[in-house]
Amino acid sequence: METGQIKVIQGDITRLNVDAIVNAANSRLLGGGGVDGAIHRAAGPELLEACREIGGCPTGEARLTPGFRLPATHVIHTVGPVWNGGRYGEPQLLASCYTQSLNIARDNNFSSVAFPNISTGIYGYPKQQAAEIAISTVKNYLRDHNFSAEITFVCFDQENYAIYQALLNKVG
Ligand code: ADP
Repeated sequence: METGQIKVIQGDITRLNVDAIVNAANSRLLGGGGVDGAIHRAAGPELLEACREIGGCPTGEARLTPGFRLPATHVIHTVGPVWNGGRYGEPQLLASCYTQSLNIARDNNFSSVAFPNISTGIYGYPKQQAAEIAISTVKNYLRDHNFSAEITFVCFDQENYAIYQALLNKVG
């Protein structure tokens, strides 16, 4: 399904052949569970070495590495907020993950970027609220920066996939 340059698919982000996949990392950038673990397994040990050299990343920010053994050329590592009820800046931090990842994509002239559903796994962000932030932040960014990359939201679970499809089918 497509909405302009934005599409949603259900699947495994490590399989995608794009300029960059985004990793929902933790602030130490040393790998972990969920999508982070899957990306490190698929990319090989060179990715951990590259992340070690970067030395960490604050919540809401993003860092770039090569994709090594992945089909994707690059990985943009971003650190989503842990959900703590929503009054600790979680919405702004989550939006910042998408904005900073897109800043890196634009600075590097990437034309295809795939995002997982940042913070909605181990970090516990409510899926509907996270999807609303993800979609509105990306849509506004593409419009405001006249950036024409193809953006794919990769949903691993059926619940997120249904939420994204419903939101992207809405007009506007
Ligand atoms: P966080 O700590 O940011 O919550 P998780 O990796 O636990 O990160 O979850 C983020 C999202 O990534 C969840 O929706 C989870 O279902 C999804 N996910 C897990 N593995 C993959 C994968 N291989 N490809 C795409 N998405 C994945």
